[in-house]
Amino acid sequence: MAKVKVLSQYCKCCQLCIEVCPQGGLKVGDKTNARGYNTVVPVNEEKCTGCTLCAIMCPDVAIEVYK
Ligand code: SF4
Ligand code: SF4
Repeated sequence: MAKVKVLSQYCKCCQLCIEVCPQGGLKVGDKTNARGYNTVVPVNEEKCTGCTLCAIMCPDVAIEVYK
């Protein structure tokens, strides 16, 4: 099963990764990072296919996908 890791310190909550994920695999979380942004967290993790679209889309290289 694939696993997505968000490097929250780099996330600026642009939500591009949320838009691009075909599985609804990411959402805006409750916690803020040191820069004051609410950071994205994985959801529906069992549905993640490991397609890496979220990681490719992220302009801040804040997502890692492990397969
Ligand atoms: S790897 Fe693909 S399926 Fe998994 S969270 Fe990222 S975009 Fe969604
Ligand atoms: S694309 Fe990157 S910076 Fe934008 S919300 Fe997703 S993880 Fe955060």
